[in-house]
Amino acid sequence: MSQIFLILIDGLRPDAIDAADAPTLQGFRDRSSYTMQAKSLMPTITLPCHMATFYSVPSGRHGITTNTFTPLARPLPSLVDQARTVRKRSAFFTSWDGFSALYKADHLDFQWSYHYVDENGIPRLFVDDILTDVAISALPNVKPDFTFLYYGTTDSAGHMYGWMQDGYLKQVERVDANLARLLPTLPEDAIVLIQADHGGHEQTHGTELPEDVLIPWMIAGPGIKQGYEIKDTAVTLLNTTPTLAHFMGVPLHGQWEGNVVSEILE
Ligand SMILES: [Zn+2]
Repeated sequence: MSQIFLILIDGLRPDAIDAADAPTLQGFRDRSSYTMQAKSLMPTITLPCHMATFYSVPSGRHGITTNTFTPLARPLPSLVDQARTVRKRSAFFTSWDGFSALYKADHLDFQWSYHYVDENGIPRLFVDDILTDVAISALPNVKPDFTFLYYGTTDSAGHMYGWMQDGYLKQVERVDANLARLLPTLPEDAIVLIQADHGGHEQTHGTELPEDVLIPWMIAGPGIKQGYEIKDTAVTLLNTTPTLAHFMGVPLHGQWEGNVVSEILE
């Protein structure tokens, strides 16, 4: 069965893919099933959006509305937890400890994390370069069934320079260059989903503005239509976990609210 990769680029707006010199993202879109009209969910903030992505429920159900985690009042399994029930192994490469909210403590088989800001609170805009190096060297040995790769520096650059400004687009290009190194090292039959958690406007996000809400959602691999623009499904963060579970052979959990995006299937 294919190895599954979720590559999440924090704060990546769909229009940034063409505004930046980002040939890897553009090329990936061209060979994927994609929509540039996918929607984040309120509040358009990193942890609530990742909770919605991994648990396939909106904030009204998972209860997280800030970047501070509080235990779920009514627990349910995330993609990682549900994968574990059928002995699937998961690996995380991230630059933020907050993502420990996305799985039960002993359910990750491999984890690499390096904090995205230094001790003075200055963003480390180089952190995705290291993350990519580590992933490229570790993945062939770990061979996880599911891998989460979190590219967070685009969000940092958005806050520093403003969304769609030069400094932000330069960081999109830096992530694009990292993906150019990473993607060719993945197994030929890998299933790869590239998406954002939210967008951004000016130097912030969190609102219902389209600039904050619209995100790219692009998936490629065996059995998935190539160069296909998703039209019939109103894709949101909630579709990610059921769709990836489908390709992993993981049973969908009854409390997940999203559906498999079946129109992408060949
Ligand atoms: Zn942010």
